[in-house]
Amino acid sequence: MIEIAPLPWLSATIVGITPVTSRVKSFRLAVVFDRPALAGQHVDVRLTAPDGYQAQRSYSIASAPSTDGTIELMVEGLAQGEVSGFFDGVAEVGDTIEVRGPIGGAFVWRAEDGGPLLLVGGGSGVVPLLAMLRHRAEAAPMVPALLLYSVRDGTEAIARDELIRRARDEPGFDLMLNLTREGGRRIDATLTDEALARLGRPRHAYLCGANPFVSTASELLVEAGLSPGTIRTERFGG
Ligand SMILES: Cc1cc2nc3c(=O)[nH]c(=O)nc-3n(C[C@H](O)[C@H](O)[C@H](O)COP(=O)(O)OP(=O)(O)OC[C@H]3O[C@@H](n4cnc5c(N)ncnc54)[C@H](O)[C@@H]3O)c2cc1C
Repeated sequence: MIEIAPLPWLSATIVGITPVTSRVKSFRLAVVFDRPALAGQHVDVRLTAPDGYQAQRSYSIASAPSTDGTIELMVEGLAQGEVSGFFDGVAEVGDTIEVRGPIGGAFVWRAEDGGPLLLVGGGSGVVPLLAMLRHRAEAAPMVPALLLYSVRDGTEAIARDELIRRARDEPGFDLMLNLTREGGRRIDATLTDEALARLGRPRHAYLCGANPFVSTASELLVEAGLSPGTIRTERFGG
């Protein structure tokens, strides 16, 4: 039997903090993994209080694969959130935290996987999809891709300007921004059917967000005729 050693906890230094929306901040971490992170992967973050109490949560990597020794996380501050509350209100540039990773084998897209690529994100679930789009732009710009991004309103849309700019400037990338409180709708067949009509039949579909969002989106795509084998999901809880 082959024994797989657990990933080690590593010290990561926060080297940059940037507001993304009123509820989400971007954190640039300096950390050296023993392998480069792939688009779609996440890290585990572990915080330790002075009395030894520990809390551990997962956060997707927003940055494209790189060898510059940093990764970007985007964390939504939740009311009474134990770990997101630390990121939202306590964390400062220069702080060190523990991370381990990169983690995740199924929810990964590499340039050589090709497309068409359908990305469906709800709320902060767009974060790993952003990494895939950034990777696509750098490594496989000819791969057709569509992001259906559902979020409450324009002020809560993560990387909104970047996504709009990419849709304008990058041939083959199409953006459907669905603002549920600004004339949009909860994810339904009208939205997924429009996404499939605009993109064509995807070779890969990646769905990420809160549990109910991912379940609904996944059912809609299967009802629309996608084979379950083409659909990969990442659930943030909630
Ligand atoms: C693979 C993976 C990747 C993730 N990537 C990201 C990411 O990139 N950015 C990000 O902001 N989060 C991400 N999450 C969610 C993250 O791991 C935490 O669950 C989230 O930050 C809440 O943790 P907390 O300690 O602040 O809240 P807790 O103290 O655990 O909970 C506080 C309150 O928030 C509720 N809650 C917990 N999780 C959620 C949620 N996801 N949505 C809504 N309500 C919730 C709880 O029910 C509770 O009422 C990811 C989760 C997974 C499994």
